[in-house]
Amino acid sequence: MALERSDSQEFRGIGASAGIAIGQVRITDRRRVAVTEIAVPADQIPTELRRFAKAIERAKDELAALKDQLSESHRPEHLCVIDAHLMLLDDTMLLGETTQHIERLSINAEGALRRTLIHFKSFFDAVDDEYLRERGGDVETVVERVLRTMMGEKQEPISQIDGKVILVAHDLSPADILQIDKSKVIGFITDLGGKTSHSTILARAFEIPAVVGLERITSEVSDGDTVILDGASGLVIVNPDQQAFRDYLQRKQRYEYVERELSKLKDLPAVTLDGHRMRLKGNVEFIDEVGSINRHGGEGIGLYRTEMLFLGRDTLPDEEEQFQAYAAIVKEMAPHPVTIRTLDIGGDKCLNELNLADEMNPALGVRAIRLSLRQPEAFKAQLRAILRASAFGEVRLFFPMVSGLAEVRSAKALFEQAKRELRGFFAFDEQLAVGIMIEIPSAVMIADLLAAEVDFFSVGTNDLIQYSLAIDRTNEHLSSLYEPLHPAVLRSLKMVVDAAHAAGIDACICGEMAGEPEYLPILLGLGFDELSMNAVSIPRVKKILRRCTMVAAREVAARVLTYATAAEADAYLRGEISARFSESFD
Ligand code: PEP
Ligand code: MG
Repeated sequence: MALERSDSQEFRGIGASAGIAIGQVRITDRRRVAVTEIAVPADQIPTELRRFAKAIERAKDELAALKDQLSESHRPEHLCVIDAHLMLLDDTMLLGETTQHIERLSINAEGALRRTLIHFKSFFDAVDDEYLRERGGDVETVVERVLRTMMGEKQEPISQIDGKVILVAHDLSPADILQIDKSKVIGFITDLGGKTSHSTILARAFEIPAVVGLERITSEVSDGDTVILDGASGLVIVNPDQQAFRDYLQRKQRYEYVERELSKLKDLPAVTLDGHRMRLKGNVEFIDEVGSINRHGGEGIGLYRTEMLFLGRDTLPDEEEQFQAYAAIVKEMAPHPVTIRTLDIGGDKCLNELNLADEMNPALGVRAIRLSLRQPEAFKAQLRAILRASAFGEVRLFFPMVSGLAEVRSAKALFEQAKRELRGFFAFDEQLAVGIMIEIPSAVMIADLLAAEVDFFSVGTNDLIQYSLAIDRTNEHLSSLYEPLHPAVLRSLKMVVDAAHAAGIDACICGEMAGEPEYLPILLGLGFDELSMNAVSIPRVKKILRRCTMVAAREVAARVLTYATAAEADAYLRGEISARFSESFD
């Protein structure tokens, strides 16, 4: 590696998948194809329509062949991204709109498809929710494949990349990630991509270190350059100097040592020194993440976000399709339980109808349980699918964004109807536990009333902090005000646990706070029964838990509640951590 060079450069992107990789750059050309829109004479239009239809069929064949090829090395659940892309190739909006452009504007098929893509992208880009916004990337990937087919442009298959390299690309599709052989590609960095794009989710599932969203990294590096990537912080160093190289080599060894040590905790119980058990589970959006929960010793899924199934399509997935998806996850996670959250998105954000409701304040709009209750038939289809999946393993169900009792009663009434509709036709768990997310301050204030109606609470701290402090969780300018240790948040957490336990039900947390090891003493001391988090955090949280006593945790929780500001609470917590657990936070 050319370490004598002094042209070291640093770039910051989005830390997509944790891990440090140091290696040589291998650029793979994934640039967008250059499309020129050309006017065509009227008699050419049928030819353009045929070219378009043929390209769609060829793209489908390619994807089907790829799925076939990958089915030898990947479990079927890992290939559902390819199914999602195949479905997009049948999307009536995508096909219809492109056909219309060819016919009405008398333009070539490539130009027409590019126009459709721009329209789709503008729809997705305008969506508030980061996760939904990134679904626009799936449409782009599929359209690119069709465009390349029409223009006869070939891409280098990732499976043929040799050597031990860090892959650099404008963007990588989920199909590219599925082809990565980890003994050859030790990490990747891309211009595009976000924290929740499909490719990123797969990289995390397969534990491939990655930094995405670097914007122009493909034009900043050349084949053979040495690159350090830190997939946790999002830092990329190109042609590092000796000092940085040595430093990161050490960090990499340290990281791998810590990972190995943490993996030893996998099968040890999540229990404090004085014998108090706490359930540690994983959050998933995608069946591919289940393997990672198992590898990290999770005791089930505490939050399955079902949104994924509803995206990038023009019709809702029906009961059968949902059932298949839920049952697959339940079987994969068995014998551990799966807690399925009903749909948590707004209005037609989930559909390709492109008539996104124009709400002034989408975060306060028709979303989550409010949306489900407005579409009782679709909601019942989801409830029936979840019930049917419960025949294959332990399932729990919960409703997002509950603000009051009436919503819970209405949702439960529909749940009872769904059960009646299934009885005699399908097996399901009659005792299936029903819970709610606590993420709106009104739900905290009436936690005692809500506790009487449900089997468990799960606190969504991401939204609870957003709504309690009136801080938009996606607004980077407000991130310093997003304070988990704000006394209002801590008092809310205490009210929720106390109300749950007074009613004899469990209190869980499935927001990001649950996965921060330094908050563990507080959450344990407050009395939470279960924490659900991203898979890699499970052993880190377990490590602190196993070095904690319930007595000490109660002291920390009681004390932290006495501070008037988040800054004071934070200073106290840091002091406690270095005094009590310093050697555990490495
Ligand atoms: C939360 O709000 O904390 C939560 C877990 O739900 P989501 O992040 O999906 O809104
Ligand atoms: Mg939420």
